Amino acid sequence: MTVPRLPQPGETVLGDRLGSYPGGKGANQAVAAARLGGQVAMVGRVGNDRFGAELIENLDRNGVDSSGIERDPAAPTGAALIYVEDGGQNMIVVAPGANATVGPADAQRAAARLGPGDLLLMQLEIPIAVIESAVDSARRAGAFIVLNAAPAQRLQPGLLSRLDALVVNEREANALVVNEREANALGGRERSPEAAAAALRATGPRIAIITLGSSGSIFCDETGVHRVEPFAVKSIDSTGAGDAFMGALAVGLAAALPSAAAIGFANAAGAAATSSLGAQAALPRLEDLRRLFGVDVPSLEA
Ligand code: ADP
Repeated sequence: MTVPRLPQPGETVLGDRLGSYPGGKGANQAVAAARLGGQVAMVGRVGNDRFGAELIENLDRNGVDSSGIERDPAAPTGAALIYVEDGGQNMIVVAPGANATVGPADAQRAAARLGPGDLLLMQLEIPIAVIESAVDSARRAGAFIVLNAAPAQRLQPGLLSRLDALVVNEREANALVVNEREANALGGRERSPEAAAAALRATGPRIAIITLGSSGSIFCDETGVHRVEPFAVKSIDSTGAGDAFMGALAVGLAAALPSAAAIGFANAAGAAATSSLGAQAALPRLEDLRRLFGVDVPSLEA
């Protein structure tokens, strides 16, 4: 809901029209990957309510296989209430609902679909125990494992070292690698993206990737730290950039593109998402990337 200004505690303000949109990092990234030519199946939980039905319909409409989505008989569909003030400041409250009831059995359902050449993409909007279990099974299945560690949360080294790729934005990178002592030493300054990427890889993943907004992204692998240049775009709304990046990255890596090429493709998708309004509404298709940037990924279209 848009409001002239955000309410103070105890205050009532008159808002504008209420809009209701499909979302959630997992669903957004699944839709992003499907729009860019990926073959995508999503595993998760919604409630047995109207929102749950709408979210499943939305996945189906976008070509995502939704047969792995369970409808929880007791918990409501996860939702976020978002107030946006004139000028763009916002206030968000998330009610995880059925996302919090995703369990190891769901992880096993996900893993049962995986084999060599497949890719498992996860976010942190479900319990960590499920992520752990899915990582174990995906490794046994020989799948490539990618974690978008968002929303930011400290993770166990045992988990990080089993990831093929760990992806975060700058804020999340700092939450993952800067401890309290370092934060004091930095005195509110942030480390350079290069130092953050190297520190992030030192936590265990084979490739650490940090998205840098309009500056593109950076990654660290066994060959060192590399910048991947941004695409120039007339940016009007950054919502969805991170999810577009993740979906594209998953498609690129699953197609066995080299890391730098997959990340370049993801930069194009992230940039494209900022050129229009909304979250899923702004997620680009291959023809959008072609029109905006002349980006073609022939190996994906074979
Ligand atoms: P998040 O939305 O998770 O904070 P970012 O803002 O870092 O993620 O955006 C993800 C990616 O989208 C970036 O790595 C970059 O490639 C692309 N991107 C985001 N904003 C812009 C922009 N203004 N211009 C060009 N590319 C952008």
